[in-house]
Amino acid sequence: MNMTQTRRGLLIILSSPSGAGKSTLSRRLLEWDPSLSFSVSATTRKPRPGEMDGKDYHFMFEDAFKRTVNEGGMLEHAHVFGHFYGSPRAPVETAIGQGRDVLFDIDWQGAQQIVNSGLGPHTLSVFILPPSIAELRRRLVGRGQDAADVIAKRMQKSWDEISHWGSYDYVLVNDDLEATLERLKTIVIATRLRRSQQPGLVDHVRSLQTEFEELS
Ligand code: ADP
Ligand code: 5GP
Repeated sequence: MNMTQTRRGLLIILSSPSGAGKSTLSRRLLEWDPSLSFSVSATTRKPRPGEMDGKDYHFMFEDAFKRTVNEGGMLEHAHVFGHFYGSPRAPVETAIGQGRDVLFDIDWQGAQQIVNSGLGPHTLSVFILPPSIAELRRRLVGRGQDAADVIAKRMQKSWDEISHWGSYDYVLVNDDLEATLERLKTIVIATRLRRSQQPGLVDHVRSLQTEFEELS
């Protein structure tokens, strides 16, 4: 029997209320480790200034989005702030099959669907909390990309998202950005060292055993 096992990639999920900093942290984590693959979500919302189709999101019309969902093309999907969002399945399966870790910036509904799927044992979920609600508002306004009514809607929904913090593996308060990033990297490094993420250990321990027996 061939016991050589290849490592399956981790699914690293970041969630937070809008404005707490998960896009910023995702970008920095991807710069830190270029082998990480980012799951580019599909959405029916309109692009913000500067957002690129295929890089930030796959911008889709609602009928095409629903068709993809019906065909099983989304790993998870949810209705957030009046629009549909989903993670296309194929790129994720390709990446993790090649042993590459995939980063998701998705809401609690999507996180829950992935954690409860067959991929659950290969997930790492991290929730990002803001230092305060006043600071959350300052960041949303300071980002300068959403209209006042959109910001008001996001602030109103922020408690819905925060209320799910307890179902994540790790929770970080994003006060100082650099400190939060360091903590996030530490969590990723530790999770990669989980026994289940190192299938090659079986062969290594077997070779240690052979060597041990030859010496004794
Ligand atoms: P999200 O993706 O969670 O909606 P963003 O990453 O877009 O949030 O961050 C919202 C705004 O807050 C951005 O302008 C970003 O530069 C800023 N920001 C992110 N993290 C911090 C932090 N730790 N301290 C101060 N500002 C931050
Ligand atoms: P935004 O419109 O600010 O880019 O994203 C709004 C919310 O939708 C954020 O909480 C973000 O994490 C979430 N989101 C983005 N992509 C996906 C996705 O593919 N699936 C789910 N479930 N949520 C997503």
